[in-house]
Amino acid sequence: MNIRTTANENGHQELCIGDAAGARHLNASARQAAGSGDLHSRVDKVVATASAHAAAVDRESRFPQEAFDAARAAQILGFAVPGELGGEGIGVADVADVCYRLGQACASTALIYAMHQTKVACIVRHGLDSPWHRQLLRRLCTEQLLFASSTTEGQAGGDLRNSAAAVEGEMRITLERQATVISYGAAADGIVTTARRAVDAASSDQVLVTFLKSDYTLEPLNGWDAFGMRGTCSSGFKLQASGQREQILPDSYEKIHSHTMMPFAHLAWSSVWAGIATAAVGRARGFVRKTAYRAGGTLPPGAAHLTRATASLRTLRSLIAASLQRFEAASADQALLESIDFQTGMNMLKVNASELAISTVMSTMQACGIAGYRNDTEFSMGRHLRDILSSPIMISNDRILANAAAASLLGGTPSSLRD
Ligand SMILES: Cc1cc2nc3c(=O)[nH]c(=O)nc-3n(C[C@H](O)[C@H](O)[C@H](O)COP(=O)(O)OP(=O)(O)OC[C@H]3O[C@@H](n4cnc5c(N)ncnc54)[C@H](O)[C@@H]3O)c2cc1C
Repeated sequence: MNIRTTANENGHQELCIGDAAGARHLNASARQAAGSGDLHSRVDKVVATASAHAAAVDRESRFPQEAFDAARAAQILGFAVPGELGGEGIGVADVADVCYRLGQACASTALIYAMHQTKVACIVRHGLDSPWHRQLLRRLCTEQLLFASSTTEGQAGGDLRNSAAAVEGEMRITLERQATVISYGAAADGIVTTARRAVDAASSDQVLVTFLKSDYTLEPLNGWDAFGMRGTCSSGFKLQASGQREQILPDSYEKIHSHTMMPFAHLAWSSVWAGIATAAVGRARGFVRKTAYRAGGTLPPGAAHLTRATASLRTLRSLIAASLQRFEAASADQALLESIDFQTGMNMLKVNASELAISTVMSTMQACGIAGYRNDTEFSMGRHLRDILSSPIMISNDRILANAAAASLLGGTPSSLRD
């Protein structure tokens, strides 16, 4: 890897890392300043920027560039990388909390951030024995790279555990896949993708491979004019990539999926959805307060819906908190991670969190009535409702429930509430 320093126009040293054209230059003193600030205040700045541009991102269906410029300045793209590789070793609970806070400001920013951090978690938890991936993590920290995810392929929808396209070649590898949905594919610095291990491998014998921007071309297949999550720019592409065999993570995707990808993604996504629901409850509370104030203290009839929204949000937050604890407790225990109970629990987190988040936002809209239904009031729920309705679709709840059906036949009846 090519590392050099240059003086910028202010005389400050800039670090330039990597050999790819357009490699990101980071002002060394700015990086130090960002790293020294406490995490909460660093995230505050990103949240404020995301919030300021959220309406425009949604209206124009565009990548939230300003929020990601702020995220890079705050150095929060690589903070989950271990300290020895240039990160801060931030754990899953803090990552989830950033997703939650961003979700309150701009759902698209939050979901992009959640997908990126899920890919980082896969590389950190399964790639530390691979020199190529260690180097990649260093680059992630110094260049604040943004990783996209490609699992959806052709017409197979959310069938994550089967791939059609295969990695080909020995030392030098190639991959060509019909990637029908890659969020922020055009804006990302790299794509972490599933693929069949080899041309003669079964569809479920998969690997996870990272390609950097200089390794691939993206040919548009379809655009992204969607109901919600419009800033994720989740277009489809024909992905044509080539690289070295060492870009494949050493662990099988089967292991990566059950140990990290599925539980981490579901925790991060659920936190985003809880953020959206929290923002909606905040609006509804503002509406009820304002209406009651105008009516001399009499609560409007829709106030009961606010009570319902507050209660379901509390349940959602408790569910995520309990699931975070469960993941942290199981994190280093291979047998526990692979147990049916843990796998079913983490899969059902996604289903339950999406349902709770939707019912919360629906209740907030009912609390506000026409003021929530209209797009031109301070209490409008339009964006929150459209964004949250992506949650059961993003890996269909029906698919997850169908896959978990067999597991629910196993196990006994708990004899105690504490079992
Ligand atoms: C906002 C957003 C961002 C996304 N970003 C990415 C990304 O970055 N990268 C990526 O790879 N993908 C991404 N996806 C795609 C996502 O992960 C799923 O693959 C995709 O949404 C599933 O598409 P589908 O509904 O056509 O497919 P399916 O999963 O096939 O579902 C279609 C319908 O079939 C039904 N169904 C499916 N399976 C079953 C079953 N077993 N039993 C009963 N009914 C069933 C469901 O009711 C569902 O409505 C994103 C999706 C969204 C919404």
